[in-house]
Amino acid sequence: MSITRDQIRELAAFADSQSCAVSFYFQPSTPRNKAHREDTILIKDLAREALHRLESQGPEGKAKKDSARADVDRVVRLSGELRSNGTHAKAVFACAAQNVWHEYDLPATLPGTQLFVDRHFHLKPVAHLLGAFPRVGIVLVDRHRARIFDLRLGELTEREGLFQPLSRKGRSDGYAGYDGGHAQRRVDDEALHHFKAIAQVLKDSLEKGVFEKWILGCQDIHRSPLESQLHPYASQALLGRFPADVGHVTNDQIRVHAEEIVERWQADRRQQLASEAVSRARSHSRGVTGLRRVLRSLELGEVQTLLIGENFQAHAVECSGCGHLDAHLVSFCPVCGRATQEVVDVGEAILPWVIRRDIEMFFVKDDAEFDKVGNIAALLRFRSDSAQPIDFAAAAQLGRAGAAYPGRLRRFASR
Ligand SMILES: [Zn+2]
Repeated sequence: MSITRDQIRELAAFADSQSCAVSFYFQPSTPRNKAHREDTILIKDLAREALHRLESQGPEGKAKKDSARADVDRVVRLSGELRSNGTHAKAVFACAAQNVWHEYDLPATLPGTQLFVDRHFHLKPVAHLLGAFPRVGIVLVDRHRARIFDLRLGELTEREGLFQPLSRKGRSDGYAGYDGGHAQRRVDDEALHHFKAIAQVLKDSLEKGVFEKWILGCQDIHRSPLESQLHPYASQALLGRFPADVGHVTNDQIRVHAEEIVERWQADRRQQLASEAVSRARSHSRGVTGLRRVLRSLELGEVQTLLIGENFQAHAVECSGCGHLDAHLVSFCPVCGRATQEVVDVGEAILPWVIRRDIEMFFVKDDAEFDKVGNIAALLRFRSDSAQPIDFAAAAQLGRAGAAYPGRLRRFASR
């Protein structure tokens, strides 16, 4: 089963007070003879390390280890079945104490096989998918045939029945029965009608939101006859093309080509959004950079698109009461006054929050300029600070209490 947006949202809402939520990601190694055996050894090592880490946390850790052990053991047993052909990755989210065990197939684009035991599920690899996958349609065409596929989070399914009027030609090549110029003209006419019909289906599908972007698979000679018929709207939504023979291409080939094209498009888009956020932050318009500013904008509900460096690492504290995240390692929450807990990886800690609010999110790779501004940034839908009056009395009070304040109550913020 592949994972849906709603399921990811549900996972993001999950918490285990015992910190025994197990997240397991399996990325198949490239298919070679020994690969499967190597995968199994790696998973056993990860399991041993995870349990060892829990145990090293003292008596409390011992209890956690006992509680997580059943799930970790089950993951290890599962690894025996992951005799993968390299086309799918897998994710498992488990918490035996709360009777939770979910398995999902993922596209085989994970950074690696990983195992985590924590209070929340580890969601970075699936969060990648949310940012990386618009609803994509794949259209395969030649002069007589057309097939449409959906690509959703690594799952490819064919849409049937969109081209009924043309189906009388079946999947044969269709040329055999025609002779002479007259027949040839008829063939050309039919091909033109055919391409027009496809262009219409594409326009309708995009307008109805059946897919947001699409990819064309065909032989080179069919490209311009089809593309010259496209509605401008459909042309704009075209992510890329790959060479394919409608009758012979396999589903795996289609998926691999399409994922490559989506990935390239996303990389460009990420880059573009990242530099936009940086330049907007510089001009104090709708953009912020740096952890402190980004956390504040998240809490103010300003964030439209969040950009996090692939290797972003930062500590923060989380309030055990109201959930406020603070880049300053304060012992007490500046919002509600309760004790805070240290968060080792704030990039992971904000994910449940971001996912539940449907904030668009991208992970930025190898971008020196982005790195310089703190490796985290956001594009804002609005900027609330300029319009807010400052409550000087409250700010002074906070000042006396020694709180450096980046938090949720906007009236305290100085800019
Ligand atoms: Zn609080």
